[in-house]
Amino acid sequence: MATPVYKRVLLKLSGEALMGTDQYGINRAAIERMVADVVEAKALGVEMAIVIGGGNIFRGIAPGAKGMDRATADYMGMLATVMNSLALADAIKQAGLTPRVMSAIGIDQVVESYVRPKALQYLEEGKVVVFAAGTGNPFFTTDTAAALRGAEMGAEIVLKATKVDGVYTADPMRDANAQRYPTITFDEAIEKHLEVMDAAAFALCRDQKLPIKIFSILKQGALKRILEGEDEGTLVHM
Ligand code: UDP
Repeated sequence: MATPVYKRVLLKLSGEALMGTDQYGINRAAIERMVADVVEAKALGVEMAIVIGGGNIFRGIAPGAKGMDRATADYMGMLATVMNSLALADAIKQAGLTPRVMSAIGIDQVVESYVRPKALQYLEEGKVVVFAAGTGNPFFTTDTAAALRGAEMGAEIVLKATKVDGVYTADPMRDANAQRYPTITFDEAIEKHLEVMDAAAFALCRDQKLPIKIFSILKQGALKRILEGEDEGTLVHM
């Protein structure tokens, strides 16, 4: 078995990834497939924390929330991430690992509140920590939560799972000549106006010198290959 190139990682999954081919909600087959990737990664001995989005259930800035107070809509979005976290943790448990959900918003009857030393302890114990409710603040996204928790946990990298296997010179769905960047610096990403993550998340990772790997969650085994140091996705580095 190959030695992993990272000891501790923060995996960012979008809510959309849980939908599979459905229009909204949680697709069982999609969640089980994703968890299978997590199981493979854990088998390498990597400590893993996960931030999950909520876009499959509710997005504060979506048309459905039009006319609503933005902060109220954002709190609904954060609660959606709690539901996703519960579903993810349940699937992780059924796959034989030990998950712990920690919420940035206090809802102690449902999940425990985020406490940094406790989260660090869980990671050291080999548990999979799922961070729910984003940053706990409206006007942010779960990408920012991933950057924040990644930095707090001392993760060596933020692994951002998307539908595309990296950052391209053009939209690979529309342009057959689009080329994938295997690596790119934070400065190059800004210069080329490449939207790797939202601006707040990107700035936080850059300040903390926390590299980001953009990869496809739809490519089976991609997560494991990244952890084994193979050329997969796009690495954004200093
Ligand atoms: N959200 C928020 N603060 C946070 C994280 C999330 O207000 O720190 C809200 C926001 O409304 C967002 C929604 O939760 O639209 C779902 O999160 P996100 O859009 O990041 O989910 P994803 O696109 O990854 O599924």
